[in-house]
Amino acid sequence: MPAAPPAPIHLLDLPAQHAPIRAALETAAATCLHQAAFIQGPAVEAFSRELSQYLGDCHVVPCANGTDALQLALMSLRLPAGAEVIVPAFTYVATLEAAAVLGLRPVPADVLAGTFNLDPQAVAAALTPQTGAIVAVHLFGQCADLQALRQLADQHGVALIEDNAQAIGATFQPETGPTWVAGTVGEVGTTSFFPSKNLGGFGDGGALFTRDENRAAYLRQLANHGQTRKYHHQHIGLNSRLDTLQAALLRVKLPHLPAWTVARQRVAAHYDELLGGLPGLRIPARDPRSTHVFHQYTITLTEPGRRDALQAFLAAHGVPSAVYYPLPNHLQPAYAYLGYQAGQFPVAEQLGRTVLSLPIHPTLTPEQVAYAAAVVRAGLA
Ligand SMILES: *Cc1c(COP(=O)(O)O)cnc(C)c1O
Repeated sequence: MPAAPPAPIHLLDLPAQHAPIRAALETAAATCLHQAAFIQGPAVEAFSRELSQYLGDCHVVPCANGTDALQLALMSLRLPAGAEVIVPAFTYVATLEAAAVLGLRPVPADVLAGTFNLDPQAVAAALTPQTGAIVAVHLFGQCADLQALRQLADQHGVALIEDNAQAIGATFQPETGPTWVAGTVGEVGTTSFFPSKNLGGFGDGGALFTRDENRAAYLRQLANHGQTRKYHHQHIGLNSRLDTLQAALLRVKLPHLPAWTVARQRVAAHYDELLGGLPGLRIPARDPRSTHVFHQYTITLTEPGRRDALQAFLAAHGVPSAVYYPLPNHLQPAYAYLGYQAGQFPVAEQLGRTVLSLPIHPTLTPEQVAYAAAVVRAGLA
């Protein structure tokens, strides 16, 4: 193992990613400041159109952040109070929070240890007559089993929502027919432009996707105080709009997303090659039906109790890493009222103790990946 990284390694390196497009970003920001149409300015509509072209056949409704997007998606379903919303037991808190804040009941279902995504059998077991929706999360950048989940939702007459905050641009090939685009398979898909996401803004931002024109119109109203026209409020809505400044900057970044995704995939393939087959470590499992846009490259330490020591060893040798997510939501104090106990979602709980996400971003060099992988190997030895 070399003594030090070839260049400082960051979990995320936005300055390096932005450097080649800095002039275009600054021009876009300056134009926005001069035009002074800060709310619902022309860039918002333009960005929505361009994102809709990138994703294919769907309507894009921008909003203030990915958590609001989830809340708006659920609001658009008009579920009765207390209706159950099935969510993965292993996900970011926002997935549950959006349901809970609306007075809906989040019902966790366990995930698959390999892909970290919803286990369709666990979802089937969690469905009740009170279920109103299934929220699939495409965790770390790979699609959940969209075919099985779409089928379950259809069979039971419940909505499928896709939390696509981590997998923008991923695709899924069902058994027959054309390829599906993540975020456009459910009744509503949501995403986030939080700065660290694959398509990150310069502050908060989010969007909703739907193929249903009427639902898109309804979502647009919900995101803007429920108004059908200015000062005419048909629905109880939210103030949840994407800032013009964010839209203007995201327009500059969107054309680069495909190349950034390829760069992430190259880093992941390199890690696979250097870490695959190591005893005690599992590289992220791939579902052959899905592409993976590698928001995170997440390894699992198969022997209990190794993870924290490895993370400390990596840090001591200049390799940052992160744990997404250490404590499943059903064990968080805020969700104690749901009444779940430790042991009820064993896969999610085990993953909380054993996963570790390694540095991955579009400007990570092969030398840095090789160094990080060498430190992982040394740390395991
Ligand atoms: C980031 C994220 C969100 C929330 O997005 P914000 O824009 O931060 O509100 C929701 N779900 C998942 C899976 C996320 O990764």
